[in-house]
Amino acid sequence: MSQVPERVRSQWPRTHFLNEVVPDIDGTEVTITGWVHEVRNLGNIAFLKLRDRSGFAQVTLVKDECDAEVFETLTSQQRESVVCIKGLVKSSEQAKMGVEIIPNAIQVLSPAETPLPLGVADKVFADLDTRLDNRFLDLRRPEVHAVFAVRDTILDSCQRQLREEGFIEVHTPKIVATATEGGTDLFPIKYFDRDAYLNQSPQLFKQILMGSGMDRVFEIGPAFRAEKHDTVRHVNEFISIDIEMSFADEEDVMGVLERVIHRMATDIAAKHQDDVEEINQLIKRYNHHIEQENGKINRENKGIKKENKKLKKEGQPLKPFIPLKDKVPPMETVVPELPLPRLTYTECVDIINARLQKMRNEAGDNQVALAAIPADLEWGEDPSLEQFKVLAQEYPGLYYITRWPMSIKPFYVHHYDEEDADPDREESRGFDLMFGHKEITSGAQRVHDLDLLIERISGQGLDPEGFEFYLKPFRYGMPPHAGWGLGVERLMMMFTSLHNIREVILFPRDRNRLVP
Ligand code: ATP
Ligand code: MG
Repeated sequence: MSQVPERVRSQWPRTHFLNEVVPDIDGTEVTITGWVHEVRNLGNIAFLKLRDRSGFAQVTLVKDECDAEVFETLTSQQRESVVCIKGLVKSSEQAKMGVEIIPNAIQVLSPAETPLPLGVADKVFADLDTRLDNRFLDLRRPEVHAVFAVRDTILDSCQRQLREEGFIEVHTPKIVATATEGGTDLFPIKYFDRDAYLNQSPQLFKQILMGSGMDRVFEIGPAFRAEKHDTVRHVNEFISIDIEMSFADEEDVMGVLERVIHRMATDIAAKHQDDVEEINQLIKRYNHHIEQENGKINRENKGIKKENKKLKKEGQPLKPFIPLKDKVPPMETVVPELPLPRLTYTECVDIINARLQKMRNEAGDNQVALAAIPADLEWGEDPSLEQFKVLAQEYPGLYYITRWPMSIKPFYVHHYDEEDADPDREESRGFDLMFGHKEITSGAQRVHDLDLLIERISGQGLDPEGFEFYLKPFRYGMPPHAGWGLGVERLMMMFTSLHNIREVILFPRDRNRLVP
């Protein structure tokens, strides 16, 4: 005997998704299901807008022509109730979708309570925290759903491209005994009676797989970082796309990376024009909100200006203005031209410092303006966000930064040993892919020489003994290899132009958010 309760079993089987209800099937009897998006009851005629994952349909009820009970039940539905409707498809000039459904029977499968904690049909700005607290409702909004449709495509494009290039998909453990790159930003967990961690990256395992002859692997899986920062581009759990490739150097894997991104961009442009429009609704609303916020900031800054006049007279230090918030450009489907620009780290330092000098010259003796300009970038330092923003003025799109200083790269990154290497500076074969000021990917050719690797591990204050499981394959034949790690969410931010990483994650995990 089936265990399915009678009320579920008796649900009429759906015949069409709503986007399949088109003028072509005029006169067909259909059974459609979905959520009540809105009901407009004008007395003698009523319209119900039904929504499912694929889109909307208009159900038209003419009081005199409709079964009284159907009319009464449908018009009394609260927004977001789940219903099943049987009816006749009728093409209609007036209906937005060119077609309407004349219902003859209805099932209310799950009524929605009222009021809703978050509006679904409302075209107003809702703050992100409220949206994430009620993510199941938020996701019902077509513009939010669109984000995840694009996300699905980029993962699919990535897998296809990598498989075509000879990579196979692997899965490595997320519960590990040793930190990948030193133990600072790991989540400790209890593993029976031992200490363990959630892995921050599959780095060591994918290198082991190069020692196992797998040659080209990729993994798409979670990475956990116990970083305490609270920014719009960091979360504590993200999905990382990682590749590792044998008999390859950093230039080889940079080629793979840009082809993957090119494929994703091409597929988004081909498949998601409607979703782009939806996502731009989200961005439009966000920008409108920012305009209002900036209005408030401008008023406050007027007050500061007044105060500063007084402070200046008194010879006191001036108060800085509150910076205005940035609006977000709309999502566009641009397919990048390959190859992507490549800058060395040294070139970046020069560009940043030259621009900073120009900014200082322009500021003259304006102390407030001068104070807002970041310090010069010393060779060997990791650029700050502000310094990257200066570079991004010249390079707002995708570009590579190559030959990073060894001192700021992890132990497994190979040193740069070509003829044009700077004899006075320790450069590496590490690279980052940047999108404006945001890092998208880090990669490198790796060290495959055992002695060198042990020296590097010790040199970074780590104990090689703790890495024995990783080092062992290097003793028995390890090919030269290279690879990269790419955060899916950073890439999604780039493609969608959404400014907060949490927008592109179903249920983000950050310092303050563990539920839902
Ligand atoms: P960042 O400097 O931006 O914090 P990272 O250099 O610490 O990044 P890597 O260790 O190089 O990051 O990780 C590889 C990729 O993983 C990054 O380029 C980025 O796309 C992604 N990534 C790293 N940390 C995070 C995070 N906390 N949240 C989301 N994505 C991340
Ligand atoms: Mg990095």
